[in-house]
Amino acid sequence: MRTTVSVIKADIGSVAGHVVVHPDTIATATRVLAEAKAKGVIFDFYVTNAGDDLELIMTHRKGVDSPEVHEVAWTAFKEAAKVARELGLYAAGQDLLSDAFSGNVRGLGPGVAEMEFYERPSEPIAVFMADKTEPGAFNLPMFKIFADPFNTAGLVIDPKLHAGFRFEVYDVFEGKSVLMNSPEEMYDILALIGTPGRYIVRRIYRRLDDEIAAVVSVERLSLIAGRYVGKDDPVAVVRAQAGFPAIGEILEAFAFPHLVAGWMRGSHHGPLMPVPQRYSRCTRFDGPPRLVGLGFQVRNSKLIGPVDLFDDPAFDETRRLAQRIADYVRRHGPFMPHRLGPEEMEYTTLPEVLEKLKDRFIKIEGATKAAEPKLKTDLLSRETKEGD
Ligand SMILES: [Mg+2]
Repeated sequence: MRTTVSVIKADIGSVAGHVVVHPDTIATATRVLAEAKAKGVIFDFYVTNAGDDLELIMTHRKGVDSPEVHEVAWTAFKEAAKVARELGLYAAGQDLLSDAFSGNVRGLGPGVAEMEFYERPSEPIAVFMADKTEPGAFNLPMFKIFADPFNTAGLVIDPKLHAGFRFEVYDVFEGKSVLMNSPEEMYDILALIGTPGRYIVRRIYRRLDDEIAAVVSVERLSLIAGRYVGKDDPVAVVRAQAGFPAIGEILEAFAFPHLVAGWMRGSHHGPLMPVPQRYSRCTRFDGPPRLVGLGFQVRNSKLIGPVDLFDDPAFDETRRLAQRIADYVRRHGPFMPHRLGPEEMEYTTLPEVLEKLKDRFIKIEGATKAAEPKLKTDLLSRETKEGD
């Protein structure tokens, strides 16, 4: 039998602004999932939170994109949002963009990371859940885990990893994806995923046998809704050990608190700080962006665990560095590169402010007008002129 791990998340309301989910909404989602488990729709589950995001970690045997399993998640979010509204929680129901469920939560607001596999005799997995950032935040660590031999020793010394990994890179603007092989196409992979607001590492496969190794949620709410509706706090599932990177190699990639987009109003760059679950509450300037990691063993489609992966003093220096970076970037206030660039700000409330100023500009005689700029993120469709 093949087991499916489904991690589905949504922000359905939180306490004191965007800080943390309420225990009653966790309890409500837990009840819905317990009923689904009793009915045999899912085999096991673990409900938790990353800051203001409600996270449903489920195991079952119905494959990815199962309408039954997605309906369970949708019902859990709907019921929890009802409680959130009763309690007057902030942004109650925020991520549920539609009332009509038609078999899949994709496109309705929740973020989804699912993978199906034959369980190995021992099947360790890591589930990562971030708050106050976007799916592209996983680009850098995923590259390090699966393509950087300075991070992952197994790429050099383990014959099963030595053939490399295949990256599926998803273009969120076009809804297209491309498969690329590491190590040969490493530089091409980087040419894309270095633009994390557009090109997102969606799935990674082991090239030796095409086994699924990792999956990341790629839903971008603002692109679905066409307006700012909160950041698309992502989730990811990574398989570990015995033919995959070791847990320690996976976690090593997060020892560097790299800059990600998100933070206050989803409009600022800040360091991604890995924290124990108990510190998954974004307070300073609604951040800095947090990452929680839970480790499980999957056995007969059940979840054994979790272990709180970043609850370790070995990550204290990473957190300290993240705080120093936070101090440094915060002093830029409303200036880029702390504030996001104009193409990312298009989905926020900034254009409304700029609209007001548009008629106050006066033409300067003799001034030259720059050629119409192409959208900066539109790298692939850019026309290349000779000598360009
Ligand atoms: Mg959130």
